[in-house]
Amino acid sequence: MFNLVLFGPPGAGKGTQSIKIAGKYKLGHISTGDIFRSEIKNKTPLGLKVTSIIEKGELVPDELLIDLLKNAMHKFEEINGFAFDGFPRTIKQAKDLDILMAEEGSGVTLTLALEVDDDELARRLLNRAQLEGRKDDTAEVIANRLKVYHQQTKPLIDFYDKQGKFKSANGTGSIDEIFAELCKIVESYID
Ligand code: AMP
Repeated sequence: MFNLVLFGPPGAGKGTQSIKIAGKYKLGHISTGDIFRSEIKNKTPLGLKVTSIIEKGELVPDELLIDLLKNAMHKFEEINGFAFDGFPRTIKQAKDLDILMAEEGSGVTLTLALEVDDDELARRLLNRAQLEGRKDDTAEVIANRLKVYHQQTKPLIDFYDKQGKFKSANGTGSIDEIFAELCKIVESYID
């Protein structure tokens, strides 16, 4: 199996690129952010629980993620692995993912980070707010999401780097240029 974690700050383009990569290499695309947005839209008990957390730009507690992920993973058939988008976001989640993957006789193959500076991210997110109307894309919440990323998610770079599973790529340029660069890296990890 080829299991990819798409990593990067909010607004780096993880969603767009992970969908393209999942399509090209037949991976199951799992976006925890998309799952939460759908739960919120459908007003499920989980959705109601996480609405205010997400609107503030905080992270949903780790213990709410693992079952969600298991369910999402079991929905796919005939795939070569997974493309995780927005998960893991904490060291605890990364360790939980390792356990979950080990149960499947597999593991994380590669963590691929998209690098974009904070000013460009804020510009993209405000632009997305106008296009998609996401409630967590206001200037104040964006600043908090970037802070949360730097404090809680960035330590994962070291976690994966120590295992030789971390690669970063330039997240600025056209969607196709970035995609081509990511594919080159992915292919260097496929035997
Ligand atoms: P995203 O679309 O990945 O930026 O996720 C939107 C929001 O959903 C985040 O700001 C968090 O509040 C929540 N969220 C998504 N994925 C996770 C995760 N792996 N851990 C905790 N919270 C998450």
